[in-house]
Amino acid sequence: MAEERQEQEDNLMKSDSSEAAGPPASVPKTLPDAAPQKDRTTQMAEFIDKWLGNSATRGVLRRLTKRCPKCGRRTENALLAYATGKSTDMCLGCRFSRFLMSKALDSMIARTDISREMAKQHLADPMWRKGLASVLEGIAKYGPAKPFTAYAPFLVVWNISRLCNLKCRHCYEFADKPRPDELNTEQALAAVDKMADAGVAYIAVSGGEPLMRTDFFEVARRIHEKDMAFSIATNGTLLTKENVQKLKELNCIYVQVSVNGATPATHNWFRGVNAFEKTMQGIKNAVKHDLTVGISMTVTSHNYKEVPAAIELSERLGAQFFMHYNFIPTGRGKNIQELDITPQQRENLLKLLASQNSRRKIKLLSTAPQYSRVCIESHAATIAMTHFDYASPEMTESIRFLADFIGGCGTGRLYCALEPNGDIESCVFIPIRLGNIKTDDFLGVWHNNDVLKKLRDRSAFKANCGVCEFRNVCGGCRARAYAMLGDVQACDPGCVRNQESWGRLVKNV
Ligand code: SF4
Ligand code: SF4
Ligand SMILES: [Zn+2]
Repeated sequence: MAEERQEQEDNLMKSDSSEAAGPPASVPKTLPDAAPQKDRTTQMAEFIDKWLGNSATRGVLRRLTKRCPKCGRRTENALLAYATGKSTDMCLGCRFSRFLMSKALDSMIARTDISREMAKQHLADPMWRKGLASVLEGIAKYGPAKPFTAYAPFLVVWNISRLCNLKCRHCYEFADKPRPDELNTEQALAAVDKMADAGVAYIAVSGGEPLMRTDFFEVARRIHEKDMAFSIATNGTLLTKENVQKLKELNCIYVQVSVNGATPATHNWFRGVNAFEKTMQGIKNAVKHDLTVGISMTVTSHNYKEVPAAIELSERLGAQFFMHYNFIPTGRGKNIQELDITPQQRENLLKLLASQNSRRKIKLLSTAPQYSRVCIESHAATIAMTHFDYASPEMTESIRFLADFIGGCGTGRLYCALEPNGDIESCVFIPIRLGNIKTDDFLGVWHNNDVLKKLRDRSAFKANCGVCEFRNVCGGCRARAYAMLGDVQACDPGCVRNQESWGRLVKNV
């Protein structure tokens, strides 16, 4: 088996290996070694450390961001007033907070390339506003720690049902039939209300196949009404014209469709049935209705060589994003663990994405947190900030310092997950129950759970993940550490910097 694994270290991207190894000529070198940028990012990081890390400032911030019994979420209201210039009905304390917060925001914005108008535009969007409110409240509670923990999860990925019309080999959720204890409509709506009260900015609805739930649109409507952003992760087979029209009406910000190969044979091999054509039609329907579409591809040795063709296919279909999904051997995926790609193959794949990102129409993302390290090491024009976004070449200079705070694996810091029965987990790929949204205080779990505390303490991570200079921007995939080594603080054996652990695992298979 060890030899087989070694053999797998073929060169997927042979034709791409030269560009993957260093900065392509056409890509501007904007990352770490350009002095003016370094100065700016260092300055900004120092400003945050000194200004926000200071206990007196944090004391003031705690008072300013305290939730008000009369007016609700004080920070969010102050940011709304900043964005719109309109004073809502606020108590004296909230008006005072608003005044000081606008001064502080002006001073912060002046240190970046972002104009005041652009900042206001962003803050007029509820997702940004709620996100920044959580950041400010998080700094008040935890300080500007690296990595940073938000006061409320910015994003919750909600596996809304285990019900699915397919039965994919790699499914982390064992999707098939619904669980007997799944939240009913009333409980699901109550869960939305609880997340809104906590300050969640964005709910990504997943499954199973979310569109199989007959009350899906009722729940989605409630998310929309509560001013939270929502997206859907789907196998695409039910993206009928009617369904995409409804998604559009509810302002769904992102439709993620999983496609596991560039050819029907490969895709259907994962899906277990003939689903390729329906999925393609679903993507076309969503693109036609002007929805933002991303193609996600869980990469194993079975489809590794098709990645470049799958990127081309995604581009031809009109998707805006292609996202490499890191294979996590959990759920049904445990049964195909031997198909995991090697660390070197993952590295080659990430280099390919990093080198092509700024030159393609389509944006290339990865859920492998090592993507940030690879972007930095290969002097790519962009830098991956989280799974879901990266800083574009224009923005990289002014906000690169942020990668140190928010970068890499977001589990338990910026993001958590909800199971169909309401169980709270840190990540959809980490099946450890932390509480239940029906019965527990959602924010209480977020602030106090011991597993989450472990996930936030990167200095306690094992092997290279604990000492690596890219720890802040990466942190390793905690789900892979847990699935393969049984410890959320173990190293991520999928990284080339943890070859030793990978070697031991391979020997034991
Ligand atoms: S050793 Fe760990 S923290 Fe460093 S790059 Fe690899 S996975 Fe990330
Ligand atoms: S553990 Fe972290 S890197 Fe891994 S899938 Fe979950 S959020 Fe992503
Ligand atoms: Zn008030």
